[in-house]
Amino acid sequence: MASRMDLDGNPIKPLTICMIGAGGFIGSHLCEKLMNETPHRVLGLDVYSDKIKHLLQSPDGSVLPWGDRIQFHKLNIKQDSRLEGLIKMSDLVINLAAICTPADYNTRPLDTIYSNFIDALPVVKYCSENGKRLIHFSTCEVYGKTIGSFLPKDHPLRQDPSFYVLKEDVSPCIFGSIEKQRWSYACAKQLIERLIYAEGAENGLEFTIVRPFNWIGPRMDFIPGIDGPSEGVPRVLACFSNALLRRQQLKLVDGGQSQRTFIYIKDAIEAVLLMIENPARANGHIFNVGNPNNEVTVRQLAEMMAMVYSKVSGEAPLDVPTIDVSSKEFYGEGYDDSDKRIPDMTIINKQLGWDPKTSLWDLLESTLTYQHRTYAEAIKKTMSKPTSS
Ligand code: NAD
Ligand code: UDP
Repeated sequence: MASRMDLDGNPIKPLTICMIGAGGFIGSHLCEKLMNETPHRVLGLDVYSDKIKHLLQSPDGSVLPWGDRIQFHKLNIKQDSRLEGLIKMSDLVINLAAICTPADYNTRPLDTIYSNFIDALPVVKYCSENGKRLIHFSTCEVYGKTIGSFLPKDHPLRQDPSFYVLKEDVSPCIFGSIEKQRWSYACAKQLIERLIYAEGAENGLEFTIVRPFNWIGPRMDFIPGIDGPSEGVPRVLACFSNALLRRQQLKLVDGGQSQRTFIYIKDAIEAVLLMIENPARANGHIFNVGNPNNEVTVRQLAEMMAMVYSKVSGEAPLDVPTIDVSSKEFYGEGYDDSDKRIPDMTIINKQLGWDPKTSLWDLLESTLTYQHRTYAEAIKKTMSKPTSS
């Protein structure tokens, strides 16, 4: 492999990366990128490895092109004495491990807080004590609600970007009341961000914090009843994919009026690779990673996914593709929502020269093609099984 150069024209040395949560959605894409396009080594840690099994072993037992540059360690960071040793063996730690599905935030708030704050503490501590660089995955949800959401519906300032665009170094973090347990996740993520920032300020920890804005693509979450629990509620891409695969209506929570910007996982992974390989430009920064051009309401997303799925599957969409449900019915007590999420891209653009590329239509087309190829047959089989009476 020809020597890789960083953004300042210096050769990039091969790194050993301790990736915690390597078996998840983002981890699987990052491992793929690192194996296919770089000389770096990965020590992958997770409780599951299904999403990276194609990188660990070839189906016919032949040697994979990246040889032994990836190792998997099945472990739970809550209680495993191997964690510090693995961090010590690495040049860089990337922490992706978290409970990060909204259906859990109000129904399993303790697990959510422990996972996103308490369980991340030893990782930060070992990095700080051993002088290891840390890239920590936070979330756009730390911004909470926009300032504009508190203005009357038809107030003209709602149209002013300074009332809704989310800027790393300017925007406040606005969460709902404590009974709205939805915010347990955002609050835990905010506190771990503050702790990492303080470790940087007081003890010199080299860190980068990533705030993903709705990264979506193949292998995200699970399809209930196929590769996850039948009653499980994944994030919106998988919920809507599941309904489309089963020819059911897509459920719109509280009218589907919330707005999101969706980014293709492969665009976002390019940004993470730039952070990995350009420490001098990435250290000490918090980066929004999203696509401000791909904004839709959840209702528009549902309508678009129904159209795209019809194209890739060849099946006509339902006459009425969506149905309204209340958030209480769908998520239970204590749910609340982020109203609008537009990332400001100034900092990442200036530091890393990165911009997202893929349109919402294109990313839905490749993702739903994957969903159809991966799950349509399995869904047909489960749906044709007689139900026991
Ligand atoms: P994911 O659930 O697919 O991946 C998380 C992985 O961490 C899972 O494989 C899980 O098994 C593992 N994990 C959790 N707890 C663990 C533990 N105690 N020990 C070992 N492994 C553990 O989620 P993802 O979408 O890949 O998200 C990764 C990170 O990015 C999370 O921190 C999440 O909060 C953040 N994030 C993602 C998005 C997004 O758009 N996908 C948005 C905001 C924030
Ligand atoms: N949502 C929905 N129907 C579903 C799943 C989610 O209307 O079947 C909505 C949810 O209320 C939220 C948005 O879709 O407004 C995005 O939800 P997701 O779970 O992907 O995570 P979030 O962006 O809120 O972190």
